[in-house]
Amino acid sequence: MRAGEGPPLLRRSHDSVTYGLYPKLMQRADLAVAGSGIMGLAHAYAAAKQGLKVVVFERSPRASGASVRNFGLIWPIGQPHGRMYELAMRSRAIWIEVLEQARLPYRAEGSLHAVYRDDEAAVAREFAEISPGLGFDCAWLDADRTLSRSHALKPAGLLGSLWSPTEVTVDPRLTLRALPDFLHERLGVEFRFGHAVRAIDLHIVETGTDRWTVNQAIVCSGDDFETLYPELLRTSGLTRVKLQMLRTRPQPGKWRLGPALCAGLTLRFYKSFQVCEALPALRERIANETPEYDRWEIHGLVSQTAEGELTLGDSHEYGEAVDIFNKEEIDCLMLRYISTFLAAPDLSIAQRWHGVYAKHPEHPFLILKPAPNVRIVTSPGGAGMTLSFGIAAETIADMYA
Ligand SMILES: Cc1cc2nc3c(=O)[nH]c(=O)nc-3n(C[C@H](O)[C@H](O)[C@H](O)COP(=O)(O)OP(=O)(O)OC[C@H]3O[C@@H](n4cnc5c(N)ncnc54)[C@H](O)[C@@H]3O)c2cc1C
Repeated sequence: MRAGEGPPLLRRSHDSVTYGLYPKLMQRADLAVAGSGIMGLAHAYAAAKQGLKVVVFERSPRASGASVRNFGLIWPIGQPHGRMYELAMRSRAIWIEVLEQARLPYRAEGSLHAVYRDDEAAVAREFAEISPGLGFDCAWLDADRTLSRSHALKPAGLLGSLWSPTEVTVDPRLTLRALPDFLHERLGVEFRFGHAVRAIDLHIVETGTDRWTVNQAIVCSGDDFETLYPELLRTSGLTRVKLQMLRTRPQPGKWRLGPALCAGLTLRFYKSFQVCEALPALRERIANETPEYDRWEIHGLVSQTAEGELTLGDSHEYGEAVDIFNKEEIDCLMLRYISTFLAAPDLSIAQRWHGVYAKHPEHPFLILKPAPNVRIVTSPGGAGMTLSFGIAAETIADMYA
């Protein structure tokens, strides 16, 4: 192109507009969603089911945030009783509806918190005793009954487990890749990958190359606090959490994990267990005996992908500036702990990565209203897979009441 020459002008239709030298096609939808992580997809689903014309913008060629980096666990057992547990269970029901319609694989095989120490057993037994009265569906299993539910646990020293039938496992990479096609084909949702939303000034939503006219917009931008409404997000109290993760090779033959697994360290991690009087003693013993697990907030979760690999994790490092380098020490600690209870045929590690999510120190998730008809829905913390469809159903019901 010679100096002074502009880019070639596109032929303009009646509803296109010119923006600077570059003509930008003006397109229309009822609702724009920024972000195609699980929160964005869940909102697109809830809105499109109501007959709204939805467009989803994703800045990357495909979703690559927390939603494809997780265990794929829909984990109601981790939510505190009452409102959050009920939201998780509602979300679970919508998840299954979506997975069935989209013909995507999932395993509704529940979970086991396996316990090998007396103080862990005390918490698990206490929770099994009181939680049915709080709305949970779980039970204490002795060692024999635990092993009859899972062949993937080491029997030596096993005291028993907390069994919960409500946990569901999806393959996050497969699911997040397939859901946009399902939403497009079944519900007419438009996707624009490789389009970062740069500004929302209703009725206009603008990416680098597109301008859309919409009535409403929802921002599900995960841990990006800098692009859209940065003043609001920066002062909202949100921070980032980095988690290290590991994945094994596919297990040999058709070896199946069965229920998703975790153990004693997890009892100190999820808020649901804070109702247990036995919990402080367990916390204290872990802090004294193995402070390295507390230092990196490590616990041991195990899920299985559609290809048979085991996903193992995780750790938690807090702070806005995320260390781009993984710590070998953390991987070693996670493997050391998981090896105390997991009896899988092949624990050799094929992949290592980390994920980052947004978290608020007090709220389980945030809904902000930066402008009329705009919502920011963010920071479901470590429970975004679990809560996404429930939160989205509530947001859309509220916006379109
Ligand atoms: C390692 C790890 C393990 C986890 N395990 C579980 C689990 O097993 N169960 C569970 O319930 N939760 C789990 N979580 C939490 C869960 O993954 C997150 O809460 C959830 O994925 C957050 O979804 P999101 O859509 O808000 O964010 P993301 O998945 O990060 O998606 C945000 C998307 O928005 C896009 N975006 C940002 N800004 C813009 C813009 N301006 N325009 C266009 N696009 C934009 C980004 O590119 C990104 O794709 C885990 C998290 C991690 C990191």
